[in-house]
Amino acid sequence: MTETQKFDVIIIGAGPAGMTTAIYAARSNLKVLLLDRGIYGGQMNNTAAVENYPGYVSILGPDLAQKMYEGVKKFQVDYRYGTVNRVEIQGINKEVITDEGNFIAPALVVATGAEHRKIGIPGEDEYSGRGVSYCAVCDGNFFKDEDIVVIGGGDSAVQEGTYLANLGRSVTIIHRRDQLRAQKILQEQAFANSKINFVWNADVQTIVGDGNAVSGVTYQDKVTKELKKVPAKGVFIYVGVVPLTEAFQNLGILDENGWILSDPVTMATKIPGIYGIGDARKKDLRQIANAVGEGATAGNEVFNYLQTLTIRSDK
Ligand code: FAD
Ligand code: NAP
Repeated sequence: MTETQKFDVIIIGAGPAGMTTAIYAARSNLKVLLLDRGIYGGQMNNTAAVENYPGYVSILGPDLAQKMYEGVKKFQVDYRYGTVNRVEIQGINKEVITDEGNFIAPALVVATGAEHRKIGIPGEDEYSGRGVSYCAVCDGNFFKDEDIVVIGGGDSAVQEGTYLANLGRSVTIIHRRDQLRAQKILQEQAFANSKINFVWNADVQTIVGDGNAVSGVTYQDKVTKELKKVPAKGVFIYVGVVPLTEAFQNLGILDENGWILSDPVTMATKIPGIYGIGDARKKDLRQIANAVGEGATAGNEVFNYLQTLTIRSDK
């Protein structure tokens, strides 16, 4: 049996939130383990141009991820691949169970973020990877000079729709209401783009195709009740995100929808030594800038928490 390795703090998730905590904790001379089930960067890897992260007027998401990781490397954080399946509490220690081995630390930071929500209509699973996608940066290039549909009305749908308009012949954004949820600046960019059309008040019903490839999307106009079709080779679905927190269900730190409940000032959950940061937290705004801010807070709070343990054990 392999030995359980011990750290001062284990950070789960190497998105902007987790990478920032790793830098802060490592610069405080703590022994840090940063775990991720995929490549560092999290959702930044699925983002085209980031234009609202201070310091960069515009930067590609994967490039920003790389820059943050350079800081992680500089401070010699132990960064490892591994999917976390469960966490067990053992006195003041937290044991993290992964498919690559187990790790233990008195402090734990959960920064596992969120992933795209499925819309749950016929054709979505059938054509996933064959026309249906959740990532414009990854798959947009397959639809060069083709007609593309984007479903949703939030920041992701409008921002990524604008990115796709650079590649496709046309982009049709289909939204269930007559008003977008996206930030005004993103709306203005999309409205000004002659390659982007909007379909409002639409109840998307099916993604259709020939069995091999997508040929379009059908929807019902909620006002006229008419059934209509928009032809498209690519369908990008951006209808929100769901938290990636299943592994922490046993800890009692989640709300009924799986979002982490952590203090807005300290990032502490109700379990001493466990912190919840970034998109996986229950909060209103999910951005890189506040993920980074929460990561910095958690790094500082972890240091303070470990100090109290040292003081206690010194007595
Ligand atoms: P994430 O970036 O989601 O990272 C979480 C990490 O945890 C991932 O790497 C994941 O692999 C890992 N993980 C999850 N579960 C486990 C597990 N069980 N074990 C191990 N590892 C695990 N924000 C902006 O500010 N500007 C933008 O322009 C912008 N554009 C966006 C475009 C799109 C399409 C999307 C979806 C989001 C965009 N956002 C943007 C939001 C921004 O990406 C997020 O707010 C930010 O990435 C959240 O950071 P995070 O570190 O909390 O989580
Ligand atoms: P979101 O803000 O939750 O928006 C989801 C959109 O999908 C909404 O317009 C919603 O409609 C629609 N929708 C939800 N369920 C649907 C369904 N079943 N059928 C059809 N439409 C449905 O999600 P998001 O746009 O993916 O953004 C996720 C987070 O990342 C947000 O916090 C966002 O701010 C952030 N983000 C930021 C940037 C940026 O800063 N530039 C870019 C991308 C994402 P309603 O409007 O009717 O609810």
